[in-house]
Amino acid sequence: MNNQKLIQEALEVLPGGVNSPVRAFKAVGGEPVVLVKGRGCRVWDADGNEYIDFLASWGPLILGHAYPKVVKAVKEEVERGLSFGLTNPHEVKLAQLVVEMVPSVEKVRFVNSGTEATMSAIRLARGVTGRKLVVKFEGCYHGHYDSLLVSAGSGVATFAIPGTPGIPEEIAKLTLVVPFNNREAVKKVFEEYGEDIACVIVEPVAGNMGVVPPKEGFLKFLREITEEHGSLLIFDEVITGFRLSKGGAQELFDVNPDLTCLGKILGGGLPVGAYGGRKELMSQVAPEGPVYQAGTLSGNPVAMVAGVETLKELRDKEPYEELGEKAKRVSEAVSGMLKEKGIPHRINRVGSMFTVFFTDKEVVDFESAKSSDLELFGKFFRKLLEKGILIPPAQFEAWFLSTAHEEEDIEEALNRIESAIREL
Ligand SMILES: *Cc1c(COP(=O)(O)O)cnc(C)c1O
Repeated sequence: MNNQKLIQEALEVLPGGVNSPVRAFKAVGGEPVVLVKGRGCRVWDADGNEYIDFLASWGPLILGHAYPKVVKAVKEEVERGLSFGLTNPHEVKLAQLVVEMVPSVEKVRFVNSGTEATMSAIRLARGVTGRKLVVKFEGCYHGHYDSLLVSAGSGVATFAIPGTPGIPEEIAKLTLVVPFNNREAVKKVFEEYGEDIACVIVEPVAGNMGVVPPKEGFLKFLREITEEHGSLLIFDEVITGFRLSKGGAQELFDVNPDLTCLGKILGGGLPVGAYGGRKELMSQVAPEGPVYQAGTLSGNPVAMVAGVETLKELRDKEPYEELGEKAKRVSEAVSGMLKEKGIPHRINRVGSMFTVFFTDKEVVDFESAKSSDLELFGKFFRKLLEKGILIPPAQFEAWFLSTAHEEEDIEEALNRIESAIREL
């Protein structure tokens, strides 16, 4: 069945034809594509078109599509059974790898998505502190949990308003929203509400307003102010974990949070999330402690072996310098092409993730990110797609490099991108 027919049928039975909104291409226009195959850094759609992929399934595929060691382990595990509902050996192995690789994590609980990870970490933070309020940053995305799917009200530091119908105001009001990279705003909420703040949750390098790095010292400042007030610091490393270094952003910036949320790369392409931290904190989780959280398919053996093989590869090969170099090369080349064409833009890059913002302002927070020309981004996306380049179908997302982007692929990608930009 071809792409168009599949999309038509999807629209009949799935809201918007999709299972996650951004796949509908509403932010960029044009017909969404249905993908049927991926190998290395390339994917193919239902019409047989091939694309060089910088979406990487939104980050998980740091080793590329269908990485042989991961596929082999998954196949072997499938033969042994799909799920047992009791503990399997691979959960222990993956937990050991996480503890070995992520500096602040001594114990970890596996869940099935990034959303579940942040939701459970917030529950734990509230449970151990006995406090209600959560501080989050405008433009950071932590999944679709009620307390975190909220928008900033008016003003610099405000009680949140529901980000969607279906979230009661009473729940949204338990979250305080402040601008990313803004110490004064954080100080202000702690001065006013410090005793009631259970935790601060942050993407240590923001990826969901496009890539926005933390300003010098910002993460250390968050570490200090939370400690001072007896609040917990939660790093949402669902994107940055195993992406920016083998220990994630916390290793790169040398700041240890109390709790860490993981996902995406952790499952090597299968649905896995996790939250973890120091032993004494994680021991508060049931059945060791009183804070309840559970999952029928959590620690699923097939998903666990995909994670194990992925993390082992990253631990043993540490491809981070090379990944960073590749991303530097691609982003600088794209910047040069846009400059030649006279298109104002800013590129923010940390390691192997970057965003091309169509703005002439420095992007340091959500407010500045929003100065981007979204119409131009839509046009850029559609031209790239037409030339065989897949990037995230929204301005406020990151391009990802994988170890499967070889020299020749990057060469070819840059040629395709150049011909797209020429036609903008
Ligand atoms: C993707 C993402 C999530 C949500 O993960 P899901 O698996 O989509 O639920 C949470 N936090 C961050 C930083 C993410 O990028």
